[in-house]
Amino acid sequence: MNVHDSEKLLGVLATLGYQPTEDEGEAHLIMLNTCAVREKAEHKVYSELGRIRKQKGKGTLIGVCGCVAQKEGRRLLERVPFVDFVLGPRSIYSLPQVLKELKKGRRVAKTELNGSCITSLVTPVLRRNPYRAYVTVMEGCDNFCTYCIVPYTRGREVSRPSREIVEEVKRLADKGYREVTLLGQNVNSYGKGLDERIDFPGLLEKVHGVEGLSWIRFITSHPKDFSFRLVKTIASLPKVCEYIHLPAQAGSNRILERMGRKYTREEYLEKVAMIREYIPSAAITSDFIVGFPGERDDDFQLTLDLLEEVRYQGVFAFRYSVRPSTKAALWEDNVPLSVKRERLSHLLKLQEDITHEVSASYKGKTLEVLFHQWKDGKLEGRSRDNKIVTALGPKKHLGTITQVKIEHTKMYELIGTIIEGGDAP
Ligand code: SF4
Repeated sequence: MNVHDSEKLLGVLATLGYQPTEDEGEAHLIMLNTCAVREKAEHKVYSELGRIRKQKGKGTLIGVCGCVAQKEGRRLLERVPFVDFVLGPRSIYSLPQVLKELKKGRRVAKTELNGSCITSLVTPVLRRNPYRAYVTVMEGCDNFCTYCIVPYTRGREVSRPSREIVEEVKRLADKGYREVTLLGQNVNSYGKGLDERIDFPGLLEKVHGVEGLSWIRFITSHPKDFSFRLVKTIASLPKVCEYIHLPAQAGSNRILERMGRKYTREEYLEKVAMIREYIPSAAITSDFIVGFPGERDDDFQLTLDLLEEVRYQGVFAFRYSVRPSTKAALWEDNVPLSVKRERLSHLLKLQEDITHEVSASYKGKTLEVLFHQWKDGKLEGRSRDNKIVTALGPKKHLGTITQVKIEHTKMYELIGTIIEGGDAP
């Protein structure tokens, strides 16, 4: 979502005559688009600001956007005197006014949470890749998991009308984009608050009808809202890829309850079983937090057991860190850092073994791959189930759905040969 926000910011800046540069030294404006989901990410913002401070002497404007901007607001301007403005994620489209204010010599903090975050169809988005595009369908979150800062930095859930989403996807398909990823903090609650009667499966059906588009992905799903209707819809729509990110966060019911996740381990496993029954080729990935307040060895063991049982294609795992304003911030952060570190490396090691095994099972298979990058004769793309696939071949395969036979496998990369004549139209 942050990557796509950066693309929106670049689009807004393009309408004002700015062009992106790789050379920081020649920039008139530097914006850091930030993440506050973990303490470590937030620390990085301040060290990065320290690093770019030297550009300031040349009159360059410096802005901080994203969730740290939202969280800190005016405090950030006080703490870092050389920052000219802060811009929350729901204020992206206020950037032109902010830059006008700066010309009058005022430093600005723009962090209203009631603003519209959603892509404006009149302002272009400067996307980084010409074949795969992110499209925002909803933003914000009403779930208030006890560890999570997102509802405080991105605000409450807002869905975008389906006709706007379909219009954006049509324009992308007309420009030659082959794949869209529908984005939202919790796409499964898409439709809430809209005048039209629509849910996420209904939206998938509408987007599926866009001509010229080949593949549809989506992130992220909350397991409690991952419905049977959604599974059946994915199974019935050939353009929807068999890749599902289903963040479990923990394997112990005691910890899931303390996290406020509103599902049990058993319910989570039922959803996984339902996915595997109706979409047998689906790859499932997940997120985990280790060392949540009160997590005991037996709770952690249940998380490891869950990894073994589900055998995810991959997981993102992090040590718990206290996030201000959240409910868990009121509890003692009582798992020692050394234990958190040990648990994290244990979990990652286990998952590495599983990922190796899952990857090795691809050897000899033929996959459909959308190549989106080419460098020195090497193509890189993703399979329908989101594996990174590389192959030697000419540029002409870029942006096409190509058949690739997998010859070698690494943990995060499948290496194959192109089956000539196997491109989809
Ligand atoms: S569902 Fe929970 S973890 Fe995900 S964004 Fe909302 S509050 Fe955060």
